[in-house]
Amino acid sequence: MASLAIPLPVEQQSGALPLPSILGTYARAPMELVRGEGVELEDAHGRRYLDFTSGIGVNALGYGDPGFRAAVVAALDTGLVHVSNLFRTRPGEELADLLVANSFASSVFFSNSGAEANEGAFKFARRWARTVHGPDKTEIVALRGSFHGRLFATLAATDRPQYRTPFKPVAPGVSISERDLESLARALHSDTTAALILEPLQGEGGVRVLDSGFLRELRALTIERGIALILDEVQCGLGRTGRLFAHEHSGIIPDMVTLAKPLAGGLPMGAILVAEHVAQTIKPGDHATTFGGGPLVASAARYVLSRVSDPALLASVRANGEWLGTRLCEIAHASGRARGVRGQGYMWGVDVVEPAGAIVRRGWDAGILMLTAGEHTLRLLPPLIMTREQLGKGLELIEQVL
Ligand code: PLP
Repeated sequence: MASLAIPLPVEQQSGALPLPSILGTYARAPMELVRGEGVELEDAHGRRYLDFTSGIGVNALGYGDPGFRAAVVAALDTGLVHVSNLFRTRPGEELADLLVANSFASSVFFSNSGAEANEGAFKFARRWARTVHGPDKTEIVALRGSFHGRLFATLAATDRPQYRTPFKPVAPGVSISERDLESLARALHSDTTAALILEPLQGEGGVRVLDSGFLRELRALTIERGIALILDEVQCGLGRTGRLFAHEHSGIIPDMVTLAKPLAGGLPMGAILVAEHVAQTIKPGDHATTFGGGPLVASAARYVLSRVSDPALLASVRANGEWLGTRLCEIAHASGRARGVRGQGYMWGVDVVEPAGAIVRRGWDAGILMLTAGEHTLRLLPPLIMTREQLGKGLELIEQVL
């Protein structure tokens, strides 16, 4: 039968399984994963893979964590998977209290994904800006290299024309600025801009750590111009950089932070952490989502948060992460096949000469799972529980496939 498929990017072309009944929005790797344990996954043929993907930054605690299982089973035993946000339930309230106690925020809105968290944050920013500054302050600005999701407003804030163009028109009122202070000083307007959204450590756009000094100057600019600063920590938050929140490295205090991926340990959940001055402008009916913050996902997230906020785990991510970065630089340099290494904690990108997808595929044969971030960047997101020894094993495999 003739294929109607639009050609995939080169990096995704081979190794894709034809899946007749799953809509073809993903090119999947050929192996079928059936089991996970610690930092390893096993396929249907019993082959094991060291996981440097964490399910795209989700599985911070790896696979088969007994405490996670106990939290989920205990939640199921109450019989309450979901009751809706029309009623009070304790797990969500306790989770919100914990997030507030550990952050700048005074309250939390729970969503089901990262894109949904960012869309909600755009709405809250507009509600705040309108209430405090007037009806013309509605524009959202994002940065070159950003990725904020695949819904219409987050797509408009995502710097990937190839994701946007086939679905135009995307949401109006959202623009992308170059990633330097001069350009941002021109793009952010006191009278029309409601919010600036950025990832303190850009993920999908190529693993790029934004400089702390740059972030502090941007924060000063947004305060001066009455613009809400939304930090998208969907991928880089919750321990991935070695701090509970990535923005702690720069010391800036944002107006909102969005979270998702690792929050509920693989169950779908996102969150918007909201500073008090923004929260005060939000009224019942301003925003809603049926599933957000239900007792099952919130119970799971309460457990995950207790683990990823553990100072010992964070310290090991910082120390091992630094070691990982140094070793990656050495390997990249020695291989002659890489141009640069960037990252922090357990989130690293290696710019490679050949298409990164080809290296990822060689990794499958060697027994390691890795990601790409753009066509020529290899992205490494190991579970936060990975030990130095296991990281070292991964490095050997990476050296081999490079
Ligand atoms: N923001 C960032 C920084 C992300 O990395 C992602 C997903 O990769 C999203 C938002 C979108 O999250 P989701 O896929 O849960 O909608």
